[in-house]
Amino acid sequence: MTLLTIGEFARAARLTPKALRLYDQLGLLKPVRVDAASGYRYYSPDQLERARLVAWLRRLGMPLARIADVCDASPAAAAEAITAFVAAEEAVFSERQGLARFLISYLSGRENAMSASSPASPALAIRCAAASDIGRQRERNQDTAYAGTRLLAVADGWGPGGEVASETAIGALQPLESLSLESPESTGDLLNALSDAVSAAAASLRERTEADPEFAASGSTLTAMLWSGSQLALVHIGDTRAYLLRDGGLFQITHDHSVTQSMIDAGKLTPEEAWSHPQRSLLLRSLGGTPDRPDTGTPEYSLHDAQAGDRYLLSSDGLTAVVPVAAIREALCEPGSVPESVVRRLISLANEAGGPDNIVCVVADVMAAA
Ligand code: MG
Repeated sequence: MTLLTIGEFARAARLTPKALRLYDQLGLLKPVRVDAASGYRYYSPDQLERARLVAWLRRLGMPLARIADVCDASPAAAAEAITAFVAAEEAVFSERQGLARFLISYLSGRENAMSASSPASPALAIRCAAASDIGRQRERNQDTAYAGTRLLAVADGWGPGGEVASETAIGALQPLESLSLESPESTGDLLNALSDAVSAAAASLRERTEADPEFAASGSTLTAMLWSGSQLALVHIGDTRAYLLRDGGLFQITHDHSVTQSMIDAGKLTPEEAWSHPQRSLLLRSLGGTPDRPDTGTPEYSLHDAQAGDRYLLSSDGLTAVVPVAAIREALCEPGSVPESVVRRLISLANEAGGPDNIVCVVADVMAAA
């Protein structure tokens, strides 16, 4: 067999001679012969396939140590390893995107605050109500809600331990209700307090999963708001949602971590088609991960400025998957309505639409403090 010089082999494999020398030192791709006198390396044409695979994997950004494992694995195991690598890279990227979005909104908020000529924002208070309903078709209610003077939260549990998961998630956040911040207007403090509580929630779910096999493959979504002064910190993971009704307009302020939402984002599905899609309840992220991907538990954080007159709604998909947004808006806009009557109305609407899932809602009105 005619051997190729390092230059010929490099050209054929689309690698540089320098890279080939490094791969030789690492044992990733050894030349078949090294000339004792000149030190020249020679490669066999049979090695081209491995060399091309190395080159492609490098282009993918895979570290050399992992490339060695992939090259030595069977084709099926190699394909699986590449899938896992890309999924992990995507998760890291999406986490960075979320953080970047948050930093942009945080800095824009500071810019506005610094340029505002009005005096310090007036103190605000909230009036809120929560309700949870089993719906008409489920045997258990795995949704949990909480509405206090500073904390509002909804969670939709899944899996055999779904009830416990959603209760655990909300229970870990409840100490925030009596939290005293060193500087109540510090957005950093507010977010750190919320993020510490969410980490505690995730840790207690993990403990449960490890200690109790019955509980394994269970988790929960979480959408929660923590108030301080005129600001609110929002945390969100999964497909529970937060909406803001301001000046008659209804805005969804969370983005579902679901298969159908990612298909809508990619232009592969319209929101109308998502309504009846068979995979509409499949989550891409939740506390406790998802059944096929246990490490997908990164929540999103954001900060919002509250105004007197705002009305917030937090709810599970038991409402939003069956009641059109126009009907939700109408219920929220009902003249003279109070949070207690609105949550009851929303639950009735979901049940009138068949009540296929558990329903949970929290409605909060922002008012100037008396
Ligand atoms: Mg649900």
